Amino acid sequence: MEPATVYLLGALMMMANGGVLGLMHRDFPPSLRPSAVSWRIGTLLHACGCTMFMVQDSLPHSFILPLANGLVMGGFTCYWGALRQFYGVPRTLVQLAPVTVGVLGVYWFADVSPNPLGRLVVVSLVWVALLGVCIYTLLQQSRRDRAWSRQVMAGTFVALLVSILFRLGWFLTMGMPDDYSGLDGSLWINMASPVVLSIMPVIGTTAFLLMCSERIRRQWERAASTDYLTGLANRRTLADAGARRFERARGQNRGFGLGVIDIDHFKSINDRFGHDVGDAALKHVAAKLEMACREQELPARQGGEEFVVLFDDVSGDTALAAGERLRKAVADAPFTSGALMLPITISIGVAVRLPEDTEFDCVLRRADAALYAAKQGGRNRVECAAPNMRMPAQTAGAAV
Ligand code: GH3
Ligand code: MG
Ligand code: MG
Repeated sequence: MEPATVYLLGALMMMANGGVLGLMHRDFPPSLRPSAVSWRIGTLLHACGCTMFMVQDSLPHSFILPLANGLVMGGFTCYWGALRQFYGVPRTLVQLAPVTVGVLGVYWFADVSPNPLGRLVVVSLVWVALLGVCIYTLLQQSRRDRAWSRQVMAGTFVALLVSILFRLGWFLTMGMPDDYSGLDGSLWINMASPVVLSIMPVIGTTAFLLMCSERIRRQWERAASTDYLTGLANRRTLADAGARRFERARGQNRGFGLGVIDIDHFKSINDRFGHDVGDAALKHVAAKLEMACREQELPARQGGEEFVVLFDDVSGDTALAAGERLRKAVADAPFTSGALMLPITISIGVAVRLPEDTEFDCVLRRADAALYAAKQGGRNRVECAAPNMRMPAQTAGAAV
């Protein structure tokens, strides 16, 4: 097979891969579309560049080489832009610097002072710069994004970078004839280069598709587990986490407790200022609770104006102190909306796991009863459930 054929096959593979991305991209959420569009443009430019390399000996080098290299470098500039968009990093005009330097350098060594080795050095350095920034963008996200696809993508770029440095080193060691042609199939490295240049973007595009689907999966998971208004864990997550923590504490015979929180006279906020202000007040209280929680504590919205915070390894006293910390955090930070400043208070019922408790709901029910007592006791206070505490209705039922 000749290098020209490999370039053609590579271009076709990239087009097909870009086409798949094009078909899938319509199903992407709006947040991912700009990045997918940039990646597709990158794939298209790259494929066009490979096609230009295929016909490089049929047209004047001073024209075709800057164009072909510019297209491929432009493609990688788009990949870099796509990655920045994917991670919400703003794009800047500086991103066009490598491709500009590359095109001018290739033109210089193709037309003004023809020198194939000079061209190779310029092209290799620009490639190293472009791949380096792509790898840097991906590595910067290693804490935020642990997806395998991100690592595959970074690995692909690293492999391409190594192959480019190897090619540069090889030609610097072996030398390059003045009439060198990239389509000369008798040089094995001329066969290897188009293979690498064509296959790596195909792997990269596949990794990009996986990164997108992984992002979508996580967004769905987050949407299913969080409360849409406050961003706290929702009732389902609370039930799962509560049951898990309860069982763990029971198995290890450790403390477990929680606080059920209810905003005082919340209905009157809705009635006086409207539902939107009520929603903003709910978000405000949720934010204060979240800020006041310690690392192991989990705040959740149970529904309406009711929240639950799971405490970790607490006794009655420490649960009461934790409840007091939450109550104070809300009472000390009045809610503001425009010119409106509204003090908001919460009542909290806390309860801890008792040896006879068989499930998470036992603790939750006692905390509910303690909350009822806190409301009865005048609100803006924390009550700890006594071991035999029951909601009044349940007490009456039990007595019958
Ligand atoms: P208490 O001190 O006894 O708890 O009085 P309260 O007014 O807070 O309690 P009540 O149960 O009478 O009212 C709760 C109100 O919370 C009624 C309901 O309209 C409102 N509410 C529930 N969910 C939402 C919500 O998502 N947004 C808004 N704005 N209001 C909500
Ligand atoms: Mg309520
Ligand atoms: Mg209330």
